[in-house]
Amino acid sequence: MVLLDMAAKLSRDIGVITLDTGRLPEETFTMIDTVRRRYGIAIETVTPDPAEVASMVARHGPNLFHDSVPQRMLCCQIRKVRPLERRLASFDAWVTGLRRGQNGSRADILRIDETARPVKINPLADWSDEEVDKYIRENDVPLHPLYSRGYGSIGCAPCTRPGSGRDGRWWWEADADKECGIHFSANGKAERSVDVLLRDIVAPSSLRQKPATDETVSDRQPGINEIQARTVDTPVFPPFSPRTVATHQGFTLWFTGLSGAGKSTISAIIERSLREGGARVEVLDGDVVRTHLSKGLGFSKEDRDTNVRRIGFVAELLSRHGAVAIVAAISPYRAVRDEVRSRIPNFVEVYVECPIEVLAERDVKGLYKRALAGEIPSFTGVSDPYEPPLAPDVVVNSSRETPEQSAAQIWATLEHKGLVTFPLRLAAD
Ligand code: SF4
Repeated sequence: MVLLDMAAKLSRDIGVITLDTGRLPEETFTMIDTVRRRYGIAIETVTPDPAEVASMVARHGPNLFHDSVPQRMLCCQIRKVRPLERRLASFDAWVTGLRRGQNGSRADILRIDETARPVKINPLADWSDEEVDKYIRENDVPLHPLYSRGYGSIGCAPCTRPGSGRDGRWWWEADADKECGIHFSANGKAERSVDVLLRDIVAPSSLRQKPATDETVSDRQPGINEIQARTVDTPVFPPFSPRTVATHQGFTLWFTGLSGAGKSTISAIIERSLREGGARVEVLDGDVVRTHLSKGLGFSKEDRDTNVRRIGFVAELLSRHGAVAIVAAISPYRAVRDEVRSRIPNFVEVYVECPIEVLAERDVKGLYKRALAGEIPSFTGVSDPYEPPLAPDVVVNSSRETPEQSAAQIWATLEHKGLVTFPLRLAAD
């Protein structure tokens, strides 16, 4: 933040990049908004390749970082290092807030590292903690809310807890460096282990070839810091065959969330991939259902519950006969959703989260404006309740993720549950 404050005073026309790993604490997004408002600068968010995340999660689970140091570093590679490398590939130089006093591994950093590509500039390299604190006080620099709760360094939510310096990062690891790989790569065995794990996830063409020498422990191996940036549309998975059998068992994928949250958009991506994989799929969209199956029903709680029970009945029939039922319906009441869930085998609940303020701004169908003006009675989220699921199988957030990123998360869950057996196909056309 010190660096950003200095840069913004020189020019508002600076390029600021932040990484959204998909696992950040909510407070970090609050901080991003604070910075935008305070300095009036644009902040570009760089996100991981959804296909790589989906593949990693399908192979190792969402919380792989607890299993071993190489798996933790694999997660950092997929969610942090590779997205940043891809973005930095078009820059000649970048500026970071690295300081020598932050960690033992940072003791030798240069103010300007001209050998790095892109050139790396660390203007605060020799600043002490006290100098940073003094600058923050004197210039009233906004601080991340978690600092006041005892955090010394802030990263992803599951990998950060209060502690001094970087002690609170990956606290369960005994001997590993407290680094994610953006600035420093692991050495020796850990580096090679991560390389091996990466080769299962990413396209071989995006990794450098190993030199043709005998492999010994002391041989120089191409490391995780040598992975080349690749273009975003490079295929990650093996070639996809439309003849691949998608699934042998039926299931119901139930999207719930407020109007305009993105249920239909995300479900359409999943639907397309399933169809291309040869699955029998039916989509029960809330709006469409109301013109046929539930024609005549209103928006009282009783009618809404009846609507959900009818959709559930059809989804259950489809699932039991080996088809995939995709339901995209607001389905605002928890009790009736849970009732339907208890009847359907292989029920996967997806909560499409989106703050009401964002929805009101988006106002895809112009409904929020009318509802807020009192023109639509019983409008879910405004004048009628929405009860979010307590234990959904997946939560996606359409205010922070692209539909493709959300679809990748959902797909990873389906793979993890063994309900689909081939990769999600994104942006096929
Ligand atoms: S900090 Fe944790 S969650 Fe974030 S990328 Fe690294 S291992 Fe994954």
